[in-house]
Amino acid sequence: MKYALVTGGSRGIGRAICIVLSKIGFPVIINYQSNTEAAETTKRLIEEDGGKAELLRFDVSDKVQLESALDDWESTHPDDYISVLVNNAGIRRDNVLFMMSDDEWHNVLDTTLDGFFYITRRLLKHMMPRKRGGRIVNIASLSGLKGLPGQANYSAAKAALIGATKALAQEVAPRGVTVNAVAPGFIETDMTKDLPEDDLKKMIPVGRFGKPEEVAAVVKFLVSPEAAYITGEVININGGLYT
Ligand code: NAP
Repeated sequence: MKYALVTGGSRGIGRAICIVLSKIGFPVIINYQSNTEAAETTKRLIEEDGGKAELLRFDVSDKVQLESALDDWESTHPDDYISVLVNNAGIRRDNVLFMMSDDEWHNVLDTTLDGFFYITRRLLKHMMPRKRGGRIVNIASLSGLKGLPGQANYSAAKAALIGATKALAQEVAPRGVTVNAVAPGFIETDMTKDLPEDDLKKMIPVGRFGKPEEVAAVVKFLVSPEAAYITGEVININGGLYT
């Protein structure tokens, strides 16, 4: 059976992606770091809709935790493989650079970049043999394209993720694996609930924050057979903010 794994699938954009991938027929592995209650809600929503989901808790930036969780998963699923990976887990720790602590810098880079590196390296071993193929979608950000003040750490992490997307896309294309990124602008989730939405939406041509489902819809297309010729791309989902 072909599974889809979504990192940070417990809440927000990750939850919407889990739900949409289940609707198109994938059994979904919901990764999360600590919020078991939210992860169980995602699982329940999928199961109530007739889908199949499993929880897999690990910190994406912790190689030991990640390898051990995937070892366990593989040993209990000898005939299955993960053909879709969505690297969605991410955090914000905003500060102006001259005040930024080492932890604020490293935690953001480690979650986005180490998280991408460890799990993608591991799961390519599922996708590449015998050209089985696969789909990798990385959740980047407008911040990684444009740079946003107060987010030097986050902008650096997401810009690097975009660079890695383009490099890896060229490496694995001959094996039938596509690698793309989406770059959301402001989306209504826990990550943005502390922001001054009324002020910010005046800058957005569409006049509102986006919904997690609007990001998930693009991910759904990128993992579909129809998107087989799209790789190394970054798709903006920002209500016109970046144009
Ligand atoms: P969110 O609501 O804060 O949810 C974050 C998710 O990531 C949660 O599921 C969380 O798990 C998980 N997570 C965080 N650190 C993790 C780690 N070390 N290991 C495993 N899971 C971890 O965020 P969101 O707004 O949905 O954002 C999802 C992605 O979209 C992020 O990469 C973010 O940078 C990107 N993005 C968001 C926006 C936006 O406006 N919201 C815009 C552009 C890009 P727990 O529930 O266990 O904590």
